[in-house]
Amino acid sequence: MHSHLCNRCGSCVGLSDGAIVFEDKTGDYRPVIKAEIDEKTAETLWEACPGKSFNFPSFREEFYPEVPNFNTFIGPYRQIGIGFATDSQIRQQGASGGIISAVLIWLLERKMIDGAVVLGMSKKEPWLTQAFIATTKEEVLEAAQSKYIISSVNDILPEINRFEGKLAYVGLPGQIQSIRKLQRMKHPSVRNIAYIFGPFYGNTLHFSSITSFLKTYKVSDYREITKLYFRHGEWPGNMRVELKSGRLIELKKFHANYLIPFHILRNSLYCTDLTNEFTDLSGGDAWAPVYEERGKGFSIIISRSDKGDDILNRMLNEGTIKMEPISAQTAIEMHSHGYDFKKRGGFIRIHFRRMLGKEVPDFGYELKGFGFSRYLMEFVISSLFILMGTKVARWTVEKIPPYIIGGIFERTRKIWKKSTYSIKRKEL
Ligand SMILES: Cc1cc2nc3c(=O)[nH]c(=O)nc-3n(C[C@H](O)[C@H](O)[C@H](O)COP(=O)(O)OP(=O)(O)OC[C@H]3O[C@@H](n4cnc5c(N)ncnc54)[C@H](O)[C@@H]3O)c2cc1C
Repeated sequence: MHSHLCNRCGSCVGLSDGAIVFEDKTGDYRPVIKAEIDEKTAETLWEACPGKSFNFPSFREEFYPEVPNFNTFIGPYRQIGIGFATDSQIRQQGASGGIISAVLIWLLERKMIDGAVVLGMSKKEPWLTQAFIATTKEEVLEAAQSKYIISSVNDILPEINRFEGKLAYVGLPGQIQSIRKLQRMKHPSVRNIAYIFGPFYGNTLHFSSITSFLKTYKVSDYREITKLYFRHGEWPGNMRVELKSGRLIELKKFHANYLIPFHILRNSLYCTDLTNEFTDLSGGDAWAPVYEERGKGFSIIISRSDKGDDILNRMLNEGTIKMEPISAQTAIEMHSHGYDFKKRGGFIRIHFRRMLGKEVPDFGYELKGFGFSRYLMEFVISSLFILMGTKVARWTVEKIPPYIIGGIFERTRKIWKKSTYSIKRKEL
């Protein structure tokens, strides 16, 4: 809980009956023990925690026994394609192609589920996220789009437990790993969860990303926020903040990415799952110039389990989703930087951590044997993350208008990507 291995999934908070709470959601967002916990509960929390260990091969064998395809980068899969929801409202409101929301709405409308666990923005504190159970199309759409600040979906496990009816669950890889652990334990809190979906996951940011962003616009109090969007408008969208005064602040998503190195949750650096490998179906942004130029929103879709694949096929037949199949190799090339960051960089960073004598997560497998140049590159990246996470660096960047720093960041990233192209693609 007090190392960088905690991904803030929220399971310990949800299952501790109030003994563990997140005290400081706009700060470090750490679970804090407030009361004594009995031994049995403590054992459950320990078992359900995905931060210290999650055995990928063993969970894959248990939950995807019949899945014909497996790729180390992608995980188990049946179909991969590029697509979007044909309902233009869903597509427009979704983060990319609106696929995840479309699937949830489709399941609700066919009464295959009674509710969907999703992540919206808090009504009371609109600068924070809040997980809830959506039971209508409107509620699913209210929660659409990616939230890039730390969020703990599993702190609503008691609500999930109390819910009468079948549920779909949407979460990030760490949150889903905990759900899978609870399913393995046959824990009652997850007995209603019939389907698991989730977005790809590069990284999450501390809430300081929001306060720092506001400071650059000379707004000193985040409580002025009435609405916060991370992907507003046409894909890939804008970060957008609406304030009590009526003022509106907007910055292109690609420019807002400048916040990443300054505010990244360190656990993101030790997560080795980009594509949300333990879902029934997962989706990411179809990052390729051919789609990006067209705007509108395109997702990469991966169906994994029988039930995920069945939903996808039925939705394709009915025309609620459109999809062009692509090969695993094309999918890997589309997200090669992401795979490199997670599957190579992640394991190298874990290796560095082990060398420093710190605890490391046990994923039941390890990728290694990368060339010296890749280790060197990771050393530079990791040093930059440490340097840019300091108070001085954050303070300095707040003095530069975001559209300038965002523009510089986007250009530097393109040059960096080009110059490291061959190191990164080697043997992908
Ligand atoms: C933190 C984060 C990092 C990401 N990094 C990448 C990346 O590196 N590369 C890439 O290709 N794609 C990434 N994505 C995925 C991408 O942004 C889209 O979410 C994905 O393409 C699905 O789009 P959609 O239109 O189908 O989803 P939508 O229809 O918009 O549905 C999204 C669903 O995800 C849920 N959700 C949103 N944010 C969170 C969250 N923080 N925690 C739990 N549930 C959440 C919502 O409740 C909603 O149900 C990331 C998403 C998130 C949240």
